[in-house]
Amino acid sequence: MYMQKGPLNSTCYTKPCSYLVFVLTFVRWHRFLQKSQWWNNEQIKEYQNNKLNELIQHAYCNVPYYRNLLTINNIRPSDIVDTSDLQKIPWLTRQTIQHNISALKATNFPSIAFQRTVTGGTTGTPLEFYVEYARWLGIHFAFNKLYMEQGGYRWSDKTVSFTGCTKKSIYHPFYRTQELSSFHMSEENLHDHYQKIVSFKPSIITSYPSALILFTNYLIRTKKQLPIPIKAVFLHGETLMDHQRTQLENYYDCPVFDQYGHREQCIFATTCLHSDQYHVFPEYGIIELLDEKGNQVTREGSQGEIVATSLHNRVFPFIRYKTGDIAIITHRNCSCGRSYPLLQKIIGRAQEFLVDKNNVRIPLTGLFHIIAETTPHVRDCQLYQDTEGKLVVFIVKDNNFTDIDEKSILQGFSKKFYEKFSIQLQYVDSIDRTTQGKHRYVIQKLQIKDDL
Ligand SMILES: [Zn+2]
Repeated sequence: MYMQKGPLNSTCYTKPCSYLVFVLTFVRWHRFLQKSQWWNNEQIKEYQNNKLNELIQHAYCNVPYYRNLLTINNIRPSDIVDTSDLQKIPWLTRQTIQHNISALKATNFPSIAFQRTVTGGTTGTPLEFYVEYARWLGIHFAFNKLYMEQGGYRWSDKTVSFTGCTKKSIYHPFYRTQELSSFHMSEENLHDHYQKIVSFKPSIITSYPSALILFTNYLIRTKKQLPIPIKAVFLHGETLMDHQRTQLENYYDCPVFDQYGHREQCIFATTCLHSDQYHVFPEYGIIELLDEKGNQVTREGSQGEIVATSLHNRVFPFIRYKTGDIAIITHRNCSCGRSYPLLQKIIGRAQEFLVDKNNVRIPLTGLFHIIAETTPHVRDCQLYQDTEGKLVVFIVKDNNFTDIDEKSILQGFSKKFYEKFSIQLQYVDSIDRTTQGKHRYVIQKLQIKDDL
């Protein structure tokens, strides 16, 4: 498939056919994943090696950037036999993509096969790239459905989704999903969201973690109940913190799952019913964890930057893409029986770290939970840093916030981080969301490299 050099039949990509491509791709991949999820290590290895060989051959034959990269580094496609050989190929960075957009496009696909995508990223620098029109969506939906089925999801279930839709609410009849906007989270809007949910009666929630926390705190403080029990909560889009997971598990009394991935489509990782460790779907992509010198991180419990290779983006291959995300590796097996590679924890992006007075990086999660632990009267908050060892905490108070809450927060920070940070609290009316409706936990103005 990857070796095809002539143009594909462009009628495959006309509008009516794109829906057909989406549905057929979805059905085929979903059937495949239902079986492959139970593969043993040997089967996974064989699949990844075969797909990697095809990908490298395709990239060498049809993608000018990779042909040039392999040639100048004296690498032949036949030198990449298995996943460990990937280390021979230089990384792909956001900057490289920005400077080589045309050269990264496969020449054996018609222009109609390319769907342009732009992502903002936490650094705010837009990144433009391409995915394969209609096919990528079918593949992504197949992975997503398989993942959600672990929480008991069925097509017939009604879902409420707190995401970054620009309208306050949108109903998708095909997916039986009521989408509610994470841009609209004032008290009045939360009340309207609640009314929608009462009449819709969903049994599944999908959401950015911060948006669901805001909504859950609204339910708690107004003593409101959901109309029917929630079967499962599926989170995505932001780094999930331990205290958020605990709160949501306790409140909804159901399994809480989290999915990690990005628009670049190189990695799809989720927690499962038995574990909050992240299962990296091996059919989606190959991941490596690298230290600051570019060496593979293999020691149990050590952390490194996620570098990922997509196994299904044929039109714009991502090979060894530096994601900028930091994770902790584990070699333990999950009791669910899947042999997927596991990440013990996803700590977040390098830009989500804070720098203390000694120029040491502190993960965001270590600081953020202090606010949740010390007071229930903070509606929303965000950290801001432009000087090492100094933090500004923007806080949106609720009506019950008093001087005692302020004192508790300051004491909480001081108790744990007295020698590392000086803290200043600033009260604001609201915290802006990103263009995708996500919450930025940190505005980090210091330049932090995407390594450790
Ligand atoms: Zn598992």
